[in-house]
Amino acid sequence: MRQKKYLLPESEIPQAWFNIQAVMPNKPLPILNPATREPLKAEDLYPIFCEECANQELNTTDEWIPIPEAVREQYTYYRSTPLVRAYELEAALGTPAHIYFKNESVSPAGSHKLNSALAQAYYAKKQGITNITTETGAGQWGGALSYAAKKFGLECAVYMVKISYNQKPYRRSIMQTFGAAITPSPSMSTRAGKDIITLNPNDNGSLGCAISEAIELAVTTPGCRYTLGSVLNHVCLHQTVIGLEAEKQMALAGEYPDIVIACFGGGSNFSGIAFPFMRHNISGEKKTRFIAAEPAACPKLTKGKFEYDFGDEAGLTPLLPMFTLGHGFKPANIHAGGLRYHGAGVILSQLMKDGYMEAVDIQQNESFKAGVLFARTEGIIPAPESCHAIAATVREALRCKETGEAKTILFNLSGHGFVDMSAYDQYLEGNLQDYSVSDEDIARFIADADALNP
Ligand SMILES: *Cc1c(COP(=O)(O)O)cnc(C)c1O
Repeated sequence: MRQKKYLLPESEIPQAWFNIQAVMPNKPLPILNPATREPLKAEDLYPIFCEECANQELNTTDEWIPIPEAVREQYTYYRSTPLVRAYELEAALGTPAHIYFKNESVSPAGSHKLNSALAQAYYAKKQGITNITTETGAGQWGGALSYAAKKFGLECAVYMVKISYNQKPYRRSIMQTFGAAITPSPSMSTRAGKDIITLNPNDNGSLGCAISEAIELAVTTPGCRYTLGSVLNHVCLHQTVIGLEAEKQMALAGEYPDIVIACFGGGSNFSGIAFPFMRHNISGEKKTRFIAAEPAACPKLTKGKFEYDFGDEAGLTPLLPMFTLGHGFKPANIHAGGLRYHGAGVILSQLMKDGYMEAVDIQQNESFKAGVLFARTEGIIPAPESCHAIAATVREALRCKETGEAKTILFNLSGHGFVDMSAYDQYLEGNLQDYSVSDEDIARFIADADALNP
């Protein structure tokens, strides 16, 4: 029988994360204090993030960062995650390409986000922090953090955008099952929330407002810190466990990827699968292509601009050098909620600028078409975000069919879609809309970011 699935024994689960900052030919530009335009130091971040995460954020020298024993132990509950050869998808497409996927949907939270949530919760506990907080839109990060907090004995408070709180009750149930306290945002529990409710009692909330509430709670509550599930360098670092495992598993399969693909929101799952392979491109040994699949409704890499911008809508974060559509950009309400972010991580943006990776944008209907084909061939219903990676894989596999090349393609299955079935219903009923953004829309919001770049 042909081998379909590759797993690693617990002893082979990576013992260190790969810090690509240490080997980048051009290091990322510094993160700036918006008031002084001075580069931020790790200490400047200590009131908001726990210290180890702040240090990792700015670490450009250590190529390998040990994964603490306690985090590795938690990883063994679901790692290694399977590397799977998608034979039936290949057959359905009639492609000579070899398609592999790394299945991060098997984590207790149903997505890759737990890889960083466990690390962040551990470092908080080690520092003597008692409470962690965050915001969540669709609820995937909130779910991962709720579980990680429980595992390390921390209290977890999640501000959930009010409209999602009402429309996605199962994600809220998941977080509550893991023991977190969920507050619909805007709320009366913070100054930021009160201000918004006073202006408009029926405000449906936004990610920007939920971020403001969580940060306010963190900086005004003793023993509380804020956490983030994407974009930041330390989050991308923690995700490299995905690609480090995949590298060993591909070797077991006797292959090395010609193309690596992941969907792209802020860039954490892309970093995770790509960076460990990219180090061999940087050293000149390999020529793998790395493709980020972003939604056409939020195309920061394909249509955005590289410049300093705020990481959040309200303009509370430091200035980040990144590909951005402007912090005021409001993406259409596509089902892939995790991809509706206006910017890209700082490391990823520099790598994109330097030509180490490429990006494609994909419409919602094309992504679900690929997701349904994947479900019917490989038996896993993918998250709407992950469907974008599958669609980009299908495009490359069909290109191989035209040229007759048997390329090896590896994509990351970032999560499952069991809590997103209403989106599948809409697709199957033919009621899903495609969205593109006009150049005028993009120009308008980028002008606000331009103003931050004198
Ligand atoms: C959050 C999320 C994403 C997008 O975030 P990245 O940081 O770009 O990886 C993608 N897929 C799933 C399943 C998610 O939960």
